[in-house]
Amino acid sequence: MMISLRKHASRLIAAALAVGSMASVSAAALNQPAAVLSSNLNSSVGTVLTTDQITTAEQALAKAKAEAEAKAKAEAEAKAKAEAEAAQKAAYNNLLTAPVSARTVAYSSSLKATDAIKQNARSMGQFKLTFYCPCATCNGAVGVPTASGTSLVEGRTIAVDSSVIPLGSRVYIEGYGLFIAEDTGSAIKNNKIDVLVSSHSRAYQLGVQYANVYVLR
Ligand SMILES: [Zn+2]
Repeated sequence: MMISLRKHASRLIAAALAVGSMASVSAAALNQPAAVLSSNLNSSVGTVLTTDQITTAEQALAKAKAEAEAKAKAEAEAKAKAEAEAAQKAAYNNLLTAPVSARTVAYSSSLKATDAIKQNARSMGQFKLTFYCPCATCNGAVGVPTASGTSLVEGRTIAVDSSVIPLGSRVYIEGYGLFIAEDTGSAIKNNKIDVLVSSHSRAYQLGVQYANVYVLR
């Protein structure tokens, strides 16, 4: 009876010591690098993964993650670019067909040539811009129509050298917008455009300007 009790007590003490020692080993083991953990695991349960295999797997995972992120970023950028290009092309197509109505001619940085204009229109280079009005001084006599037979409309009418820009062309003047080559003038030769405005004082104020010119097509 006494022996049996003593044996039982010693088993309990041994079990308690084992649990305590296991807990401390586990806590320390958790702080080990993956390579040490795998080495301990391998020694206890047989080969699972070598250190090299773990390193390779970790590198492959990081690489796959970086590639997936780069791919998603590239796809988002390509989609945004395609949308911007489609919007610009639609705006360009609108320039080809939309009516060109009367408006006040003035320089605006918002009227810079878009990439779609640069890619699709015929670039004519830089032109010298002068301004004229329907008065007798500018236009010979009051009431004289354009060389195309149309009336003089600010925001639509420009005079060109028709051997450089054919009459009827839609002409985009960078910073000034869309016009139609409707008129000619004895002093308007080569890379010169006379832009019609409605009053002589405004034609005088606008003076001489230079701008890139595109003929739409
Ligand atoms: Zn005038």
